[in-house]
Amino acid sequence: MKDVNCAYCMQGELVAKFAYPVCKMDTGFLYVFKEQSHPGRLILAHDKHISEMIELTDEERNAFFADVAKASRAIHKVFHPEKVNYGAYGDTGCHLQHASGSEVQGSVRVGRYI
Ligand SMILES: [Zn+2]
Repeated sequence: MKDVNCAYCMQGELVAKFAYPVCKMDTGFLYVFKEQSHPGRLILAHDKHISEMIELTDEERNAFFADVAKASRAIHKVFHPEKVNYGAYGDTGCHLQHASGSEVQGSVRVGRYI
């Protein structure tokens, strides 16, 4: 089920306010954030409008994290970070998504994830 107020469900203009579409992955859609305080800052929005990871079956969760790992490999390949940070935040929405961004020693997280 889609939520008409959810940027990740509706895509298009709602997502375009803060991200560029990259590609469809096996379990969701990958976006790159316009705000790149952490180079390569991405978000993988799950195909399902669900709030919590516990709503996925073990198989679905494993497939989702396989996609997260693929996206992380791309960040490493392009940006060569010391570390990629991961997060699943729902500050302003409740669509399961996983954010990734590179981290260099001593940098500070800025901005917020939705
Ligand atoms: Zn949604």
